[in-house]
Amino acid sequence: MNFLEERIMKDGVVKEGNILKVDSFLNHQMDVKLFKQMGEEFKRRFAGKNINKIITIEASGIGIACIVAECFDVPVVFAKKSQSVNIDGDVYSAEVESFTHKCKNQVLISKKFVGPEDHVLIIDDFLANGCALQGLISIVNQAGGTVEGIGIAVEKGFQQGGQIIRNLGYQLESLAIVDGMNAADGSINFREE
Ligand code: 5GP
Repeated sequence: MNFLEERIMKDGVVKEGNILKVDSFLNHQMDVKLFKQMGEEFKRRFAGKNINKIITIEASGIGIACIVAECFDVPVVFAKKSQSVNIDGDVYSAEVESFTHKCKNQVLISKKFVGPEDHVLIIDDFLANGCALQGLISIVNQAGGTVEGIGIAVEKGFQQGGQIIRNLGYQLESLAIVDGMNAADGSINFREE
């Protein structure tokens, strides 16, 4: 088991409805030293890629993305969620369905902060059905930028997102891939790399 899998076993809680709660260290209270380790691991996995920007989505991706951005020594931009369909022309936008909140949001990034010169590493805390990632990929493509890779903390391998994104040809690196979990006994099975 790697450092993140060990931490999930120690402090993660399996909830009904295929939800893994990691709010004591990842997406509510945040263990910044753990994020630093994650950033260094992404730096190793994406070595040789010419990355000049990190992009994530609010809210829970932001903490991790900031620390990863420091490891890569590049700026970080987060996509904002907006319930409004009335979006003005100075932004790139995409529609994203939230897995946890079961609602649709427009996500948007100002045209000032992403463009054709950008070689982007997308970072997020979770990958489930892949809607959030597809929205971010769409925004980078609209801007004429290049997605160099995608770094995820926890991929739920029993949902379809990972396969969809890998089939699109992107380098997707998930630090922990959960292939199964059980709320009744709290067990979690990780994919062996
Ligand atoms: P997707 O768009 O891939 O279906 O879902 C990704 C988003 O849903 C993540 O950004 C994360 O906020 C949320 N999410 C999906 N599954 C889980 C989960 O099991 N636990 C938590 N805490 N968040 C999740």
